[in-house]
Amino acid sequence: MRFDLTASRFVETDERPDAWAVIGAERALRWRELATEAEAWAQRARTYGFAADVPVIVRGHKEAAFFVAMAGALLLGAPFVPVDTIYPDERMQRIASTLGARTYYDAQGDRFVALNGEPAQAQTAANSPPASAPQPLREKQLAYVLFTSGTTGEPKGVQIGRESVAALVEWMAADFALGDAPVFLNQAPFSFDLSMYEVFGTLSLGGTAVLASRSLTAQGATFLATLARHGLTTWVSTPSFAQQLLLNPQFSAEGLPALKTFLFCGEVLPVGLARQLRQRFPAARIVNTYGPTEATVATTWIVVDDAVLAQHARLPIGYAKRDAEVFVEDGELCIAGAHVMRGYLNREDLNAARMFTRHGVRAFRTGDLGAVEGGGLLFCHGRIDDQIKMGGYRIELMEIDSALRALPGVSSAAAVPLRRPDGSVARLVAFVATGADDGRLPGALHDWKSLLAARLPSYMIPSELLACRALPVSVNFKIDRAQLAQDYRDAHFKTQRQHGA
Ligand code: AMP
Repeated sequence: MRFDLTASRFVETDERPDAWAVIGAERALRWRELATEAEAWAQRARTYGFAADVPVIVRGHKEAAFFVAMAGALLLGAPFVPVDTIYPDERMQRIASTLGARTYYDAQGDRFVALNGEPAQAQTAANSPPASAPQPLREKQLAYVLFTSGTTGEPKGVQIGRESVAALVEWMAADFALGDAPVFLNQAPFSFDLSMYEVFGTLSLGGTAVLASRSLTAQGATFLATLARHGLTTWVSTPSFAQQLLLNPQFSAEGLPALKTFLFCGEVLPVGLARQLRQRFPAARIVNTYGPTEATVATTWIVVDDAVLAQHARLPIGYAKRDAEVFVEDGELCIAGAHVMRGYLNREDLNAARMFTRHGVRAFRTGDLGAVEGGGLLFCHGRIDDQIKMGGYRIELMEIDSALRALPGVSSAAAVPLRRPDGSVARLVAFVATGADDGRLPGALHDWKSLLAARLPSYMIPSELLACRALPVSVNFKIDRAQLAQDYRDAHFKTQRQHGA
Protein backbone atom coordinates (compact mmCIF):
# COMPACT_ATOMS: atom_id res chain seq x y z
CA MET A 1 0.00 0.00 0.00
CA ARG A 2 0.91 3.66 -0.16
CA PHE A 3 -0.68 7.05 0.42
CA ASP A 4 -1.69 9.03 -2.65
CA LEU A 5 -0.99 12.62 -1.64
CA THR A 6 -2.87 14.13 -4.57
CA ALA A 7 -6.07 12.19 -3.92
CA SER A 8 -5.41 12.19 -0.14
CA ARG A 9 -6.19 8.55 0.39
CA PHE A 10 -4.56 5.18 0.92
CA VAL A 11 -4.28 3.08 -2.23
CA GLU A 12 -3.60 -0.61 -2.72
CA THR A 13 -0.49 -1.49 -4.69
CA ASP A 14 1.37 -4.70 -5.45
CA GLU A 15 3.17 -4.11 -2.19
CA ARG A 16 1.81 -6.42 0.53
CA PRO A 17 -0.54 -4.67 2.96
CA ASP A 18 1.18 -6.56 5.77
CA ALA A 19 4.48 -4.79 5.08
CA TRP A 20 5.64 -2.51 7.90
CA ALA A 21 4.70 1.14 7.56
CA VAL A 22 5.82 2.62 10.88
CA ILE A 23 8.10 1.29 13.56
CA GLY A 24 7.24 3.55 16.48
CA ALA A 25 8.77 3.98 19.91
CA GLU A 26 5.94 2.03 21.54
CA ARG A 27 4.60 -0.25 18.75
CA ALA A 28 4.84 -0.99 15.04
CA LEU A 29 2.11 -0.71 12.39
CA ARG A 30 1.68 -2.56 9.14
CA TRP A 31 0.34 -0.61 6.16
CA ARG A 32 -3.17 -2.02 6.55
CA GLU A 33 -3.16 -1.03 10.24
CA LEU A 34 -1.87 2.45 9.45
CA ALA A 35 -4.70 2.97 6.97
CA THR A 36 -7.37 1.71 9.39
CA GLU A 37 -6.04 3.70 12.34
CA ALA A 38 -5.60 6.91 10.32
CA GLU A 39 -9.20 6.70 9.14
CA ALA A 40 -10.43 6.10 12.70
CA TRP A 41 -8.29 9.01 13.93
CA ALA A 42 -9.80 11.34 11.31
CA GLN A 43 -13.30 10.33 12.47
CA ARG A 44 -12.37 11.02 16.07
CA ALA A 45 -10.76 14.37 15.23
CA ARG A 46 -13.98 15.39 13.49
CA THR A 47 -15.89 15.02 16.75
CA TYR A 48 -13.58 17.61 18.31
CA GLY A 49 -14.38 20.10 15.58
CA PHE A 50 -11.39 19.42 13.30
CA ALA A 51 -12.13 19.60 9.59
CA ALA A 52 -10.57 20.65 6.29
CA ASP A 53 -8.27 23.69 6.72
CA VAL A 54 -8.57 23.62 10.52
CA PRO A 55 -5.05 23.18 11.92
CA VAL A 56 -4.47 20.36 14.38
CA ILE A 57 -1.52 20.39 16.77
CA VAL A 58 -0.05 16.93 17.23
CA ARG A 59 2.22 16.68 20.25
CA GLY A 60 4.48 13.79 21.20
CA HIS A 61 7.78 12.16 20.42
CA LYS A 62 8.22 9.30 17.97
CA GLU A 63 5.06 7.39 18.83
CA ALA A 64 3.40 5.39 16.03
CA ALA A 65 0.29 7.37 17.08
CA PHE A 66 2.07 10.59 16.01
CA PHE A 67 2.47 9.18 12.50
CA VAL A 68 -1.14 7.95 12.48
CA ALA A 69 -2.32 11.45 13.41
CA MET A 70 -0.34 13.09 10.59
CA ALA A 71 -1.79 10.62 8.06
CA GLY A 72 -5.26 11.09 9.60
CA ALA A 73 -4.96 14.87 9.30
CA LEU A 74 -4.05 14.49 5.62
CA LEU A 75 -7.16 12.35 5.11
CA LEU A 76 -9.23 15.05 6.80
CA GLY A 77 -7.61 17.90 4.88
CA ALA A 78 -6.61 19.45 8.22
CA PRO A 79 -3.06 20.90 8.22
CA PHE A 80 -1.08 19.15 10.94
CA VAL A 81 1.16 21.14 13.27
CA PRO A 82 3.83 18.83 14.69
CA VAL A 83 5.12 19.78 18.14
CA ASP A 84 7.76 17.54 19.69
CA THR A 85 7.87 17.24 23.48
CA ILE A 86 11.30 18.91 23.31
CA TYR A 87 9.24 22.13 23.20
CA PRO A 88 8.19 23.25 26.69
CA ASP A 89 4.50 23.88 27.50
CA GLU A 90 4.85 27.63 27.25
CA ARG A 91 6.17 27.38 23.68
CA MET A 92 3.30 25.11 22.73
CA GLN A 93 0.83 27.58 24.25
CA ARG A 94 2.30 30.36 22.14
CA ILE A 95 2.06 28.21 19.01
CA ALA A 96 -1.55 27.39 19.89
CA SER A 97 -2.45 31.03 20.39
CA THR A 98 -0.93 31.96 17.00
CA LEU A 99 -3.10 29.26 15.43
CA GLY A 100 -6.17 30.12 17.48
CA ALA A 101 -6.19 26.46 18.61
CA ARG A 102 -8.03 25.37 21.77
CA THR A 103 -7.52 21.63 21.59
CA TYR A 104 -4.55 19.47 20.59
CA TYR A 105 -3.89 15.81 20.03
CA ASP A 106 -1.54 14.21 22.55
CA ALA A 107 0.10 11.25 20.78
CA GLN A 108 1.64 9.94 24.01
CA GLY A 109 -1.72 9.60 25.72
CA ASP A 110 -3.65 9.01 22.45
CA ARG A 111 -6.21 11.65 23.43
CA PHE A 112 -7.46 15.09 22.52
CA VAL A 113 -6.70 17.64 25.22
CA ALA A 114 -8.02 21.16 25.77
CA LEU A 115 -5.29 23.75 26.00
CA ASN A 116 -6.77 25.19 29.20
CA GLY A 117 -6.01 21.87 30.86
CA GLU A 118 -9.63 20.75 30.98
CA PRO A 119 -10.77 17.59 29.17
CA ALA A 120 -11.47 18.31 25.51
CA GLN A 121 -15.15 18.43 24.67
CA ALA A 122 -16.26 16.01 21.96
CA GLN A 123 -19.36 16.53 19.92
CA THR A 124 -21.95 13.78 20.19
CA ALA A 125 -25.24 13.25 18.39
CA ALA A 126 -26.91 14.84 21.41
CA ASN A 127 -24.99 18.09 21.58
CA SER A 128 -24.17 20.86 19.16
CA PRO A 129 -20.62 21.55 17.91
CA PRO A 130 -18.38 22.40 20.86
CA ALA A 131 -18.28 26.10 21.68
CA SER A 132 -14.51 25.85 21.40
CA ALA A 133 -14.67 24.55 17.80
CA PRO A 134 -11.40 25.52 16.13
CA GLN A 135 -11.46 27.91 13.19
CA PRO A 136 -10.12 27.26 9.66
CA LEU A 137 -7.01 29.09 8.49
CA ARG A 138 -7.17 31.72 5.80
CA GLU A 139 -4.80 29.71 3.61
CA LYS A 140 -6.58 26.68 2.17
CA GLN A 141 -5.30 23.22 1.28
CA LEU A 142 -2.25 23.32 3.48
CA ALA A 143 -0.46 20.08 4.29
CA TYR A 144 1.20 21.30 7.48
CA VAL A 145 2.30 24.32 9.48
CA LEU A 146 5.72 24.09 11.03
CA PHE A 147 6.95 26.51 13.68
CA THR A 148 10.57 27.65 13.61
CA SER A 149 12.54 29.95 15.87
CA GLY A 150 11.51 33.60 15.48
CA THR A 151 13.50 36.79 16.04
CA THR A 152 10.75 38.49 18.04
CA GLY A 153 10.78 35.76 20.66
CA GLU A 154 7.68 34.15 19.16
CA PRO A 155 8.09 31.03 17.00
CA LYS A 156 6.87 31.68 13.46
CA GLY A 157 4.52 29.38 11.56
CA VAL A 158 5.62 28.30 8.09
CA GLN A 159 2.55 27.34 6.04
CA ILE A 160 3.23 24.59 3.51
CA GLY A 161 0.63 23.85 0.85
CA ARG A 162 -0.28 20.45 -0.52
CA GLU A 163 1.15 21.46 -3.90
CA SER A 164 4.52 21.97 -2.20
CA VAL A 165 4.45 18.50 -0.70
CA ALA A 166 3.46 17.07 -4.09
CA ALA A 167 6.56 18.74 -5.57
CA LEU A 168 8.71 17.26 -2.79
CA VAL A 169 7.58 13.68 -3.36
CA GLU A 170 7.85 13.95 -7.15
CA TRP A 171 11.43 15.07 -6.74
CA MET A 172 12.24 12.31 -4.26
CA ALA A 173 10.78 9.68 -6.58
CA ALA A 174 12.50 11.05 -9.69
CA ASP A 175 16.01 11.79 -8.46
CA PHE A 176 16.86 10.17 -5.16
CA ALA A 177 16.99 6.56 -6.44
CA LEU A 178 15.71 5.24 -3.12
CA GLY A 179 14.40 1.99 -4.61
CA ASP A 180 11.05 0.30 -3.96
CA ALA A 181 9.60 0.65 -0.48
CA PRO A 182 12.62 2.34 1.14
CA VAL A 183 13.17 1.92 4.87
CA PHE A 184 13.87 5.37 6.32
CA LEU A 185 15.59 6.43 9.49
CA ASN A 186 13.42 9.08 11.14
CA GLN A 187 15.56 10.73 13.78
CA ALA A 188 14.80 14.47 13.57
CA PRO A 189 11.82 15.48 15.71
CA PHE A 190 8.61 15.92 13.69
CA SER A 191 8.70 19.62 14.58
CA PHE A 192 11.73 19.98 12.27
CA ASP A 193 11.09 19.92 8.57
CA LEU A 194 13.95 17.52 7.86
CA SER A 195 11.63 14.79 9.19
CA MET A 196 9.14 15.54 6.43
CA TYR A 197 11.50 13.69 4.06
CA GLU A 198 10.67 10.47 5.89
CA VAL A 199 7.01 11.24 6.54
CA PHE A 200 6.17 12.00 2.94
CA GLY A 201 8.78 9.62 1.49
CA THR A 202 7.30 6.73 3.47
CA LEU A 203 3.71 7.66 2.66
CA SER A 204 4.18 8.30 -1.06
CA LEU A 205 6.62 5.47 -1.81
CA GLY A 206 4.89 2.84 0.35
CA GLY A 207 8.00 2.52 2.50
CA THR A 208 8.72 2.14 6.19
CA ALA A 209 9.64 4.81 8.71
CA VAL A 210 11.74 3.70 11.67
CA LEU A 211 11.05 6.35 14.32
CA ALA A 212 14.10 6.71 16.52
CA SER A 213 13.37 8.30 19.89
CA ARG A 214 15.94 10.30 21.84
CA SER A 215 16.30 7.46 24.33
CA LEU A 216 16.93 4.94 21.53
CA THR A 217 19.49 7.08 19.69
CA ALA A 218 21.33 7.65 22.98
CA GLN A 219 22.11 3.91 23.08
CA GLY A 220 24.47 3.84 20.08
CA ALA A 221 24.90 0.08 19.63
CA THR A 222 21.26 -0.84 20.37
CA PHE A 223 20.09 1.94 18.08
CA LEU A 224 22.22 0.70 15.18
CA ALA A 225 21.18 -2.91 15.82
CA THR A 226 17.52 -1.81 15.67
CA LEU A 227 18.11 -0.10 12.32
CA ALA A 228 19.88 -3.20 11.00
CA ARG A 229 17.04 -5.44 12.17
CA HIS A 230 14.53 -3.41 10.19
CA GLY A 231 16.70 -3.44 7.05
CA LEU A 232 17.38 0.31 6.95
CA THR A 233 18.02 1.50 3.38
CA THR A 234 17.87 5.30 3.71
CA TRP A 235 19.64 7.31 6.37
CA VAL A 236 18.14 10.77 6.88
CA SER A 237 19.70 13.13 9.41
CA THR A 238 21.70 16.28 9.87
CA PRO A 239 25.44 15.80 9.38
CA SER A 240 25.92 16.51 13.12
CA PHE A 241 23.93 13.43 14.06
CA ALA A 242 25.86 11.14 11.70
CA GLN A 243 29.14 12.61 12.96
CA GLN A 244 28.40 11.45 16.52
CA LEU A 245 27.84 7.89 15.33
CA LEU A 246 31.26 7.60 13.74
CA LEU A 247 32.52 6.77 17.23
CA ASN A 248 30.65 3.48 16.93
CA PRO A 249 32.35 0.78 14.80
CA GLN A 250 28.94 -0.75 13.99
CA PHE A 251 28.19 2.40 12.00
CA SER A 252 29.56 0.75 8.87
CA ALA A 253 28.49 -1.27 5.82
CA GLU A 254 28.91 -4.43 7.91
CA GLY A 255 26.67 -3.08 10.67
CA LEU A 256 24.01 -1.70 8.29
CA PRO A 257 24.25 -3.97 5.23
CA ALA A 258 21.05 -2.76 3.49
CA LEU A 259 21.96 0.94 3.68
CA LYS A 260 22.10 2.47 0.18
CA THR A 261 21.65 6.21 0.69
CA PHE A 262 22.62 8.96 3.09
CA LEU A 263 20.30 11.91 2.73
CA PHE A 264 21.65 14.97 4.51
CA CYS A 265 20.11 18.38 4.97
CA GLY A 266 19.94 21.20 7.45
CA GLU A 267 23.53 22.34 7.82
CA VAL A 268 26.95 22.25 6.22
CA LEU A 269 28.10 18.74 5.29
CA PRO A 270 31.77 18.72 6.32
CA VAL A 271 34.18 17.20 3.80
CA GLY A 272 35.77 15.14 6.59
CA LEU A 273 32.47 13.47 7.45
CA ALA A 274 31.69 12.71 3.81
CA ARG A 275 35.16 11.15 3.39
CA GLN A 276 34.77 8.94 6.45
CA LEU A 277 31.35 7.80 5.27
CA ARG A 278 32.81 6.94 1.84
CA GLN A 279 35.29 4.68 3.64
CA ARG A 280 32.79 3.09 6.00
CA PHE A 281 30.06 2.65 3.37
CA PRO A 282 31.85 2.37 0.01
CA ALA A 283 28.68 1.35 -1.88
CA ALA A 284 26.32 3.98 -0.42
CA ARG A 285 25.35 7.23 -2.14
CA ILE A 286 25.79 10.41 -0.13
CA VAL A 287 23.34 13.13 -1.08
CA ASN A 288 23.85 16.64 0.27
CA THR A 289 20.66 18.68 0.10
CA TYR A 290 20.06 22.26 1.12
CA GLY A 291 17.03 24.38 1.82
CA PRO A 292 15.06 26.25 4.46
CA THR A 293 11.82 25.03 6.07
CA GLU A 294 10.13 27.82 4.11
CA ALA A 295 10.75 25.89 0.89
CA THR A 296 9.53 22.41 1.91
CA VAL A 297 12.56 20.56 3.27
CA ALA A 298 15.10 21.04 0.46
CA THR A 299 15.71 22.80 -2.82
CA THR A 300 19.19 21.88 -4.05
CA TRP A 301 21.07 18.60 -4.18
CA ILE A 302 24.31 16.96 -5.15
CA VAL A 303 25.60 13.39 -4.95
CA VAL A 304 28.88 13.66 -3.06
CA ASP A 305 31.13 11.13 -4.73
CA ASP A 306 34.92 10.87 -4.83
CA ALA A 307 35.17 13.31 -7.75
CA VAL A 308 33.21 15.98 -5.85
CA LEU A 309 35.31 15.36 -2.74
CA ALA A 310 38.53 15.70 -4.72
CA GLN A 311 37.43 19.04 -6.20
CA HIS A 312 36.14 20.94 -3.16
CA ALA A 313 37.64 21.94 0.16
CA ARG A 314 34.11 23.08 1.18
CA LEU A 315 31.23 21.18 -0.33
CA PRO A 316 28.77 22.88 -2.67
CA ILE A 317 25.05 22.59 -1.94
CA GLY A 318 24.57 21.35 -5.48
CA TYR A 319 22.08 22.23 -8.18
CA ALA A 320 18.50 23.47 -7.99
CA LYS A 321 15.99 20.61 -8.05
CA ARG A 322 14.14 20.04 -11.30
CA ASP A 323 11.09 22.26 -10.67
CA ALA A 324 12.78 25.09 -8.78
CA GLU A 325 14.90 28.11 -9.57
CA VAL A 326 17.71 29.20 -7.25
CA PHE A 327 19.51 32.45 -7.90
CA VAL A 328 21.72 34.93 -6.10
CA GLU A 329 20.51 38.50 -5.60
CA ASP A 330 22.77 40.96 -3.79
CA GLY A 331 24.76 38.02 -2.49
CA GLU A 332 21.65 36.30 -1.04
CA LEU A 333 20.31 32.92 -2.13
CA CYS A 334 16.72 33.19 -3.39
CA ILE A 335 14.39 30.33 -4.22
CA ALA A 336 11.39 30.22 -6.56
CA GLY A 337 9.02 27.32 -7.11
CA ALA A 338 5.77 25.65 -6.14
CA HIS A 339 7.49 24.28 -3.05
CA VAL A 340 7.96 27.76 -1.53
CA MET A 341 5.65 28.28 1.46
CA ARG A 342 2.38 30.18 1.26
CA GLY A 343 3.74 32.54 3.89
CA TYR A 344 4.31 32.87 7.64
CA LEU A 345 1.07 32.63 9.59
CA ASN A 346 -0.17 36.09 10.64
CA ARG A 347 3.18 37.72 9.85
CA GLU A 348 2.42 40.05 6.97
CA ASP A 349 5.47 42.12 7.89
CA LEU A 350 7.81 39.18 7.35
CA ASN A 351 5.96 38.01 4.26
CA ALA A 352 6.34 41.44 2.71
CA ALA A 353 10.07 41.45 3.46
CA ARG A 354 10.94 37.87 2.48
CA MET A 355 8.45 36.77 -0.17
CA PHE A 356 8.01 37.92 -3.76
CA THR A 357 6.93 36.60 -7.14
CA ARG A 358 9.34 35.47 -9.82
CA HIS A 359 8.02 34.64 -13.29
CA GLY A 360 4.58 34.14 -11.76
CA VAL A 361 5.63 31.72 -9.00
CA ARG A 362 6.23 32.17 -5.29
CA ALA A 363 9.77 33.11 -4.31
CA PHE A 364 11.61 33.50 -1.01
CA ARG A 365 14.72 35.34 0.16
CA THR A 366 16.57 32.80 2.31
CA GLY A 367 18.87 35.02 4.36
CA ASP A 368 21.74 32.74 3.27
CA LEU A 369 24.82 34.14 1.60
CA GLY A 370 25.41 32.32 -1.64
CA ALA A 371 27.33 32.04 -4.84
CA VAL A 372 26.74 30.30 -8.11
CA GLU A 373 29.36 28.90 -10.46
CA GLY A 374 29.04 28.32 -14.17
CA GLY A 375 26.67 25.43 -14.85
CA GLY A 376 24.51 26.39 -11.88
CA LEU A 377 26.57 24.82 -9.09
CA LEU A 378 25.54 26.56 -5.87
CA PHE A 379 27.38 27.34 -2.65
CA CYS A 380 26.07 28.49 0.72
CA HIS A 381 28.44 30.74 2.65
CA GLY A 382 26.55 31.19 5.92
CA ARG A 383 23.96 33.68 7.10
CA ILE A 384 23.31 37.37 6.58
CA ASP A 385 21.47 37.60 9.92
CA ASP A 386 21.65 36.22 13.48
CA GLN A 387 20.19 32.81 12.69
CA ILE A 388 22.54 29.94 13.52
CA LYS A 389 22.66 26.16 13.33
CA MET A 390 23.94 24.27 16.34
CA GLY A 391 23.99 20.48 16.33
CA GLY A 392 21.58 20.72 13.39
CA TYR A 393 19.02 22.89 15.25
CA ARG A 394 17.89 26.17 13.71
CA ILE A 395 18.08 28.94 16.28
CA GLU A 396 17.40 32.68 16.10
CA LEU A 397 19.74 34.26 18.63
CA MET A 398 17.20 37.05 19.13
CA GLU A 399 14.67 34.53 20.41
CA ILE A 400 17.13 33.56 23.16
CA ASP A 401 17.89 37.26 23.84
CA SER A 402 14.21 37.84 24.35
CA ALA A 403 13.93 34.95 26.86
CA LEU A 404 17.05 36.24 28.67
CA ARG A 405 15.57 39.74 28.94
CA ALA A 406 12.55 38.25 30.69
CA LEU A 407 14.80 37.00 33.53
CA PRO A 408 14.55 39.00 36.79
CA GLY A 409 16.75 42.11 36.97
CA VAL A 410 18.06 41.84 33.41
CA SER A 411 17.94 45.01 31.32
CA SER A 412 19.62 43.77 28.18
CA ALA A 413 21.05 40.45 27.06
CA ALA A 414 22.76 38.63 24.23
CA ALA A 415 23.29 34.99 23.32
CA VAL A 416 26.72 34.53 21.78
CA PRO A 417 27.78 31.58 19.61
CA LEU A 418 31.30 30.26 20.12
CA ARG A 419 32.55 28.91 16.82
CA ARG A 420 35.06 26.25 15.85
CA PRO A 421 37.79 27.13 13.31
CA ASP A 422 35.56 25.80 10.48
CA GLY A 423 32.79 28.25 11.46
CA SER A 424 30.38 25.70 12.98
CA VAL A 425 28.91 26.58 16.37
CA ALA A 426 30.34 24.58 19.26
CA ARG A 427 28.22 26.11 22.04
CA LEU A 428 26.33 29.16 23.20
CA VAL A 429 27.12 31.46 26.09
CA ALA A 430 24.96 34.35 27.23
CA PHE A 431 25.71 37.78 28.64
CA VAL A 432 23.22 39.74 30.71
CA ALA A 433 23.53 43.37 31.76
CA THR A 434 22.63 43.61 35.41
CA GLY A 435 24.32 46.91 36.20
CA ALA A 436 26.62 45.16 38.69
CA ASP A 437 30.36 45.65 38.44
CA ASP A 438 31.64 42.46 40.05
CA GLY A 439 30.55 40.11 37.23
CA ARG A 440 28.62 37.92 39.68
CA LEU A 441 25.12 36.72 38.97
CA PRO A 442 22.52 38.25 41.30
CA GLY A 443 20.73 35.78 43.60
CA ALA A 444 17.52 35.96 41.55
CA LEU A 445 19.42 34.45 38.63
CA HIS A 446 20.87 31.41 40.39
CA ASP A 447 18.18 29.25 38.90
CA TRP A 448 18.51 30.80 35.42
CA LYS A 449 18.62 27.49 33.54
CA SER A 450 15.28 26.29 34.83
CA LEU A 451 13.77 29.76 34.33
CA LEU A 452 14.84 29.61 30.67
CA ALA A 453 13.72 25.98 30.31
CA ALA A 454 10.14 27.03 31.00
CA ARG A 455 10.24 28.94 27.76
CA LEU A 456 12.96 27.55 25.51
CA PRO A 457 13.72 24.03 24.28
CA SER A 458 16.85 22.51 25.81
CA TYR A 459 18.96 23.02 22.67
CA MET A 460 18.48 26.81 22.92
CA ILE A 461 19.70 27.13 26.51
CA PRO A 462 23.21 28.61 26.72
CA SER A 463 25.81 26.62 28.58
CA GLU A 464 26.99 29.63 30.64
CA LEU A 465 25.50 32.90 31.83
CA LEU A 466 27.80 35.83 32.52
CA ALA A 467 26.77 39.09 34.14
CA CYS A 468 28.25 42.44 33.17
CA ARG A 469 27.57 46.11 33.75
CA ALA A 470 26.54 46.88 30.18
CA LEU A 471 26.77 45.17 26.81
CA PRO A 472 29.02 46.54 24.04
CA VAL A 473 27.25 47.95 20.99
CA SER A 474 28.53 48.20 17.44
CA VAL A 475 28.45 51.31 15.24
CA ASN A 476 24.82 50.70 14.29
CA PHE A 477 23.88 50.41 17.99
CA LYS A 478 23.21 46.70 17.85
CA ILE A 479 24.65 44.54 20.61
CA ASP A 480 28.08 43.51 19.39
CA ARG A 481 28.03 39.70 19.61
CA ALA A 482 31.42 39.40 17.90
CA GLN A 483 33.00 41.62 20.57
CA LEU A 484 31.38 39.55 23.33
CA ALA A 485 32.70 36.33 21.76
CA GLN A 486 36.15 37.91 21.64
CA ASP A 487 35.90 39.08 25.29
CA TYR A 488 34.89 35.57 26.29
CA ARG A 489 37.81 33.99 24.46
CA ASP A 490 40.29 36.55 25.88
CA ALA A 491 39.04 35.94 29.42
CA HIS A 492 39.45 32.18 28.98
CA PHE A 493 42.87 32.57 27.45
CA LYS A 494 43.90 34.71 30.45
CA THR A 495 42.55 32.16 32.93
CA GLN A 496 44.37 29.36 31.14
CA ARG A 497 47.62 31.31 31.26
CA GLN A 498 47.12 32.03 34.98
CA HIS A 499 46.70 28.30 35.53
CA GLY A 500 49.84 27.65 33.49
CA ALA A 501 47.99 25.74 30.75
P1 AMP B 1 15.98 24.65 8.37
O1 AMP B 1 14.88 25.58 8.08
O2 AMP B 1 16.03 24.17 9.77
O3 AMP B 1 16.03 23.51 7.38
O4 AMP B 1 17.33 25.47 8.18
C1 AMP B 1 17.61 26.05 6.96
C2 AMP B 1 18.97 26.67 6.98
O5 AMP B 1 19.98 25.70 7.29
C3 AMP B 1 19.36 27.20 5.63
O6 AMP B 1 18.80 28.47 5.38
C4 AMP B 1 20.89 27.20 5.72
O7 AMP B 1 21.34 28.30 6.46
C5 AMP B 1 21.15 25.94 6.52
N1 AMP B 1 21.37 24.76 5.64
C6 AMP B 1 20.45 23.84 5.30
N2 AMP B 1 21.00 22.88 4.53
C7 AMP B 1 22.30 23.19 4.35
C8 AMP B 1 23.41 22.60 3.63
N3 AMP B 1 23.29 21.45 2.98
N4 AMP B 1 24.59 23.25 3.67
C9 AMP B 1 24.74 24.41 4.34
N5 AMP B 1 23.74 25.01 5.04
C10 AMP B 1 22.54 24.41 5.06
